Amino acid sequence: MEEKLNHKCGIFGVYARGMDVARLTYFGLYALQHRGQESSGIAVSNGKKIVTHKRIGLVAQVYAEDDLKKLRGYIAIGHNRYSTSGGIHDAHMQPVAQPDDIVALAHNGNLPVIEPIKKFLSSHGISTHGHNDSELMQLLLKFYLVKGMSIEEAVKKSFPLFTGSFCLLILTKDKLVAVRDTFGIRPLSIGKLNGGYVVSSETCAIDTVSAHFVRDVAPGEMVVFSSRGMVSHMLSESKQKLDIFEFVYFARPDSVLLGQRVHEVRKNLGRLLAQEVKVSADVVIPVPDSSIPAAIGFSEESSIPFDFGLVKNRYIGRTFIMPEQRLRDHSVQMKLNPVKSVIEGKRIVVIDDSIVRGTTLKKLVTMLRHAGAKKVHILSSCPPVCFPDFYGIDTPSQKELIASQKTVSEIEKFIGADSLHYLSYKGLISATNLPEEVFCTSCFTGDYPIDIGKQKNYIKIPKAKIPDIAFKTFVTNNKKQSLHPKKSGPSMHTL
Ligand code: 5GP
Ligand code: MG
Repeated sequence: MEEKLNHKCGIFGVYARGMDVARLTYFGLYALQHRGQESSGIAVSNGKKIVTHKRIGLVAQVYAEDDLKKLRGYIAIGHNRYSTSGGIHDAHMQPVAQPDDIVALAHNGNLPVIEPIKKFLSSHGISTHGHNDSELMQLLLKFYLVKGMSIEEAVKKSFPLFTGSFCLLILTKDKLVAVRDTFGIRPLSIGKLNGGYVVSSETCAIDTVSAHFVRDVAPGEMVVFSSRGMVSHMLSESKQKLDIFEFVYFARPDSVLLGQRVHEVRKNLGRLLAQEVKVSADVVIPVPDSSIPAAIGFSEESSIPFDFGLVKNRYIGRTFIMPEQRLRDHSVQMKLNPVKSVIEGKRIVVIDDSIVRGTTLKKLVTMLRHAGAKKVHILSSCPPVCFPDFYGIDTPSQKELIASQKTVSEIEKFIGADSLHYLSYKGLISATNLPEEVFCTSCFTGDYPIDIGKQKNYIKIPKAKIPDIAFKTFVTNNKKQSLHPKKSGPSMHTL
């Protein structure tokens, strides 16, 4: 089955002679569990042969002691796969590698346009049937390796056909190669470890294995780790466009992205929200875990006391893990429960990091009212998520995004809150302490830095609009179309 859905995953690699690289990768993947909970895999090379172990499940479930013992060598790559709304497909687990393969590949990101690779492979007699983007990339690399090229040459040859977002870890029998797309949509960092190296989606995993952060892999860069040490090749000019949603939701708060600690950026989001939105309330509560830093920031700035009014069952994964809406509804209840003593008789400010489908908050507002809340004000620490992501988040259909279907006041009614406010776009950017140009902001603005192919024909003007977002002009049906109609209706949202 063809799978065109997105996968925002976690990847971790090690090149270190004399160390238990499989175990280090396992620890690294453990620290990156938040980036994918569907399946996990590790491929190891001992200089002669690549051995891979991958299974459905969480890192803790996928590897038994015996499995790790079988993964002997001095180079390893690992992958945690993010759940897709298409469900669980064990056929697409990563690292991509056949038994006794000459190259293994771990991919974080998504290629919205795969026709050029497919065409190329087909024209050389290689079947592309049933392969997803990551598998096609591996096939293309293998095509060049089989011709006798080095992995460096194979990556250079393949790079122009990779249209989309990709952080890649590639394992050959004697090299570890890290590659990042021209725009650096997904993060990838390098650490040093006792003469060896690690490469990780996030710095939190570099800390976990007691390595030292060296630097990020630059957008458009290939870094090769081998007996010659670490060698860099620029494959294209860097045009940094990190997905700003990494700061909003995806990354772990203890990670550092573009030099900024995610936790501090999220606190800033909350502080700026408190400057923009004035509410009279008795307590501010986060929707744990992802909005805790923003709620702390909001509380500090507004002087409204912070408390944990919702307890999260720590043993339940991220809500989106349930692919069907019906299951997703139920999972909110299983995951969060109000602390009545914090809620009863109070005017509550609830901070959530983002509103995607609106499922979580609709349930939560009801729950909080049952627990005796006098008022429930909902504040999102990012602007309305209006556009689907094609670079690796699981929001593939614009129809499912509540902000594309409803105005802010309609969303407020839908979730049943006394009031609903979103952080401004300006606030979002300024919380990062970085310029707007370094970010991919497509989910808020519709500005897609990498071609999304035919999918652009289906992008619609969203309903929710906050005053400081100018939806970007983009091409629809080969005609220039502005998403920002000249005469716009009344502003839906006044802060
Ligand atoms: P909603 O219930 O509105 O569909 O989802 C909003 C919640 O999902 C927020 O609390 C946010 O923390 C979380 N969220 C936002 N983006 C993503 C994502 O890409 N994946 C997962 N698993 N959760 C997300
Ligand atoms: Mg959440």
